[in-house]
Amino acid sequence: MLDILTYLPARRKKSGSGWISFNAPCCVHNGESADRRQRGGIKPADDGWSYHCFNCGFTASFRLGRNLGLKARRLLAWLGVPSEEIERINLESLRHRSMEGLIQERQAVWHRLSNMPEFLETDLPHDTQIITEQFPAQWQYLRGRAAPQDYPYMVQGGAENRPHVLIPFTHDGCIVGHTTRFLDSRRPKYISETQADYVFGWDLQRPQWQHVLVMEGVFDALSIGGMAVLHADISDGQARLIRSLEREITVVPDQDRAGMRLVERALELGWAVSIPPWEPGIKDVNDAVIRYGRLGALLTIMQSRETSRVKIELKRKQLAKRI
Ligand SMILES: [Zn+2]
Repeated sequence: MLDILTYLPARRKKSGSGWISFNAPCCVHNGESADRRQRGGIKPADDGWSYHCFNCGFTASFRLGRNLGLKARRLLAWLGVPSEEIERINLESLRHRSMEGLIQERQAVWHRLSNMPEFLETDLPHDTQIITEQFPAQWQYLRGRAAPQDYPYMVQGGAENRPHVLIPFTHDGCIVGHTTRFLDSRRPKYISETQADYVFGWDLQRPQWQHVLVMEGVFDALSIGGMAVLHADISDGQARLIRSLEREITVVPDQDRAGMRLVERALELGWAVSIPPWEPGIKDVNDAVIRYGRLGALLTIMQSRETSRVKIELKRKQLAKRI
């Protein structure tokens, strides 16, 4: 009875990547015209589901054992689920509150007490689509930047927009912002909508990993499964978030002037730094992955990992002479 599929319209289709699409019920409530192109997508998981509308941008998600959130309630109502039924689903969910759910709840309280950043769930921009081979320019661009294929890259609107790739920012599976990388040569190159202390790549980390790589850019993080602080600095909130993973942290700066600032901040935080002796022309992790492959780049990073302050200072001075 908590199976969302029972509430979906009968006319729907399933994609290979697990998305089920149907005419989105949200758009008319968000000032857009009714969807007739099956642009509402739901991805069921073992313990819940997430919903994205690729027309009006509305998102919602649900996890078994948690309270049914405001956005999930709205979606169910728009799907025609009566309000008593929605209440019942909520109670049923709370009855399933597992040990894990309780631990997560305690963690959430602890995060609040310890000043850990929290992020509000946001909508995607309206009229977005997942990038497939049907967008050859975007598709080629992503392959060229060694971006993993299983991330939901998007494109927004029609031909009137500058050619671009839109990368949703997620945290614990929720959409909390996005960045747009334009593919023409005009400025700005990126436009981002993000929240204070956000770190990109939280959801790219795997439970069995013992290390986390911290870099500046989104494509650096995507190409190697690391985390991106999105500028050449690390805020205190970002540092708390990265520390909370309880892993060995290594900062891999861009090999340019801005990267020097990131090294200084890593020294302040007492984190390891890696400045691999990459060949000329390779100035960040993404360049290295494109040249050496993911594993090759990872080896160069781990081989050059330094924890000693003196050695990091030395490497930084050597780098400063090269750039
Ligand atoms: Zn919609």
